[in-house]
Amino acid sequence: EPQVEPDPSKKTLVILGTGWGSVSLLKQLDTENYNVIVISPRNYFLFTPLLPSCTTGTIEHRSIMEPVRTILRQKKASVKFYEAEASSIDPERKVVRIFDNSEIRGDITETEVPYDMLVVGVGAENATFGIPGVREHSCFLKEIGDAQKIRKRIMDCVETAAFKDQSPEEINRLLHMVVVGGGPTGVEFAGELQDFFEEDIKKLVPDISDRFRVTLIEALPNVLPMFSKQLIEYTESTFKEEKINIHTKTMVKKVTDKAVEAEMTHPDGKKETVVFPYGLLVWATGNAVRPVVKDLMGRIPAQKDSRRGLAVNEYLVVQGTRDIWAVGDCAVAGYAPTAQVASQEGSFLARLFNNMAKTEALEEKISHLSSTLNLQPGNSAAVSREIEGYERQLRRVKNAKPFNYSHQGSLAYIGSDKAVADVTWFNGNVAAAGSLTYIFWRSAYISMCFSTRNRLLVINDWLKSKVFGRDLSRE
Ligand code: FAD
Ligand code: NAD
Repeated sequence: EPQVEPDPSKKTLVILGTGWGSVSLLKQLDTENYNVIVISPRNYFLFTPLLPSCTTGTIEHRSIMEPVRTILRQKKASVKFYEAEASSIDPERKVVRIFDNSEIRGDITETEVPYDMLVVGVGAENATFGIPGVREHSCFLKEIGDAQKIRKRIMDCVETAAFKDQSPEEINRLLHMVVVGGGPTGVEFAGELQDFFEEDIKKLVPDISDRFRVTLIEALPNVLPMFSKQLIEYTESTFKEEKINIHTKTMVKKVTDKAVEAEMTHPDGKKETVVFPYGLLVWATGNAVRPVVKDLMGRIPAQKDSRRGLAVNEYLVVQGTRDIWAVGDCAVAGYAPTAQVASQEGSFLARLFNNMAKTEALEEKISHLSSTLNLQPGNSAAVSREIEGYERQLRRVKNAKPFNYSHQGSLAYIGSDKAVADVTWFNGNVAAAGSLTYIFWRSAYISMCFSTRNRLLVINDWLKSKVFGRDLSRE
C-alpha cells in the first residue's frame, strides 16, 4: 500500500528539478526509505537531445516529454510532487521557499518546504553575456516552449516573405535564419533547419525558396570545440555543401529587432563590424547560473570562489554543507554540462542514498542485537555470529566509492541525414561521420533512458515526416 502521509521516522528528501539529473536519481531511488518530495516548475521530463528536431516538426514536442507523475506512479512508496519553482534555499533553517509560477493559482501560491536532505538539480539558464537586445529579440533552444516558438516563427517568416508585393530585400531578410553559437545546440539546429528547407519548404513554397539561408555565427576559430579536429572539418565542409554559411571568429555584440551586429576578426587580425539582417534569430551560446543557485552560493562561505555553479566534492555534496547535494548543469564537478554527466550523477546519488538507508538499518540491527547480547547469555555465540554477519554487510555498504564519470562519447546530428560521433569503444576513441553514423545516432537515442511509449512516438514521428513531409501549419 503506498503510504500517503509523511512517516515521521524517516528523513525528508527534497529533490529540485525534473531534468536529466533529478529524474535519473528518482528512477533508481528506493523511495520507501525516505519521505521524498519533488519540486519543479515542469511536471515532465524533457528528452533534450531530440529538442532540435521539434523546431521543424520532424518530431512532435509531446513525443519527447515524459510526465513526471507517470514516473512517480511506478515507485514503490508514494512521492509528493509540487509544480513550483524554488526561489530560495536556506541552508541554516533547512527549508526551501517555493512559489507557483503557473497561470492558474490557488489561494496559496508561496510556501516553505523543510528538508533533512536536499538535492539541487535545477539545471542552468541561457547565457546572454548581457549583450543588448538578446533577451528581447531572439529565441533560445532549451525548453519545449522554445522549440514551439521557433517552429511558429519559421513558418511566420516564410508566410510573411510570401506576402503580396513584399520587396526582394525584405524577402531576403525574412528568409535569413541566423544562429548564434557554434556549440552542439547551434550546429544541430542549423542542420535541422537545412533539412526542413531541402525536404519541405522547397517543394511547398517554391517561388521564394531560393532565398532561404542559414547563417551560423561562432566567436571561436571553429565550431563544435568539444569534437575532434577531423569531425570539426567534416561538419564545416558538410555545412558548406548544404549552403549553411559559417562565420567563425565572429562575436555578436548587439541585437536589434531585425539585425545582428557582430565583430569579425580577419586572418590578418583586422577587425570589422558586420551586420546580418535576419527573420529568425536563435541564440545558443551555452549556460548561465540560475538565480536560485546564485542565491544559495551567496549563503555558503565555502562557495565564495565558485562562478559557474555549486562546487561539489567527489560524492556530489555541495562544498560547505553536509546535507545538500547537487547534480547536472548547476553543479561544478569538473565535467561538461551534458545529459550524460547529469544522468550518471543522478544514478550515483540514487545508489548512495539507497546505501545510506541500508547502513542505518544495519546499524540499528547491530545495536539492537548488541543490547540483547547481555540479556541472553545462553545464546551469545549465535547472536555474536549474527552481529558479525551484519557488520560484514555494513562494511561493504559503507565502502561507497566516489563518483566516477564514464564518458560514452559525443554525438551530434548535422543535417542531410549525417551525424558526427566521437565514441569510446573498447577503451579506444573512434571518430565517425556520415550517414551510417546517423543511423547509429538514431538508434542510440531510441535506446537511451526513455519510456517505451516515448520510443514508439518518436519512431512514429520520424516515419510520418519522411512519408508525408513535415507539417507546415502554424498553430
Ligand atoms: P535540466 O535537464 O535542464 O533540468 C532542470 C530541471 O530543473 C527542469 O525540470 C527545470 O524545470 C527545473 N527547474 C528550473 N528552475 C527550477 C527552480 N527554480 N526550482 C525547481 N526546479 C527548477 N547533452 C547530452 O549529453 N547529449 C545531447 O545530445 C544533448 N543535447 C542537447 C540538446 C539541446 C537542445 C540542449 C538544450 C541540451 C542538450 N544536452 C545534451 C545537454 C543536456 O540537456 C543538459 O546537460 C541536461 O539537461 C542537464 O541536466 P540537468 O538535470 O542538470 O538540467
Ligand atoms: P556551448 O557552450 O557548447 O557552445 C556555445 C558557443 O557559443 C561557444 O562555442 C561560444 O564560443 C559561442 N559564443 C558565445 N558567445 C558568443 C557570441 N557573442 N557570438 C558568437 N558566438 C558566441 O553551448 P550549447 O551548444 O548550448 O551546449 C550546452 C551544453 O549542452 C554543452 O555542454 C553541450 O555539450 C551540451 N549539448 C550536447 C549536445 C550533443 O551532445 N549532441 C547537443 C546540445 C548540447
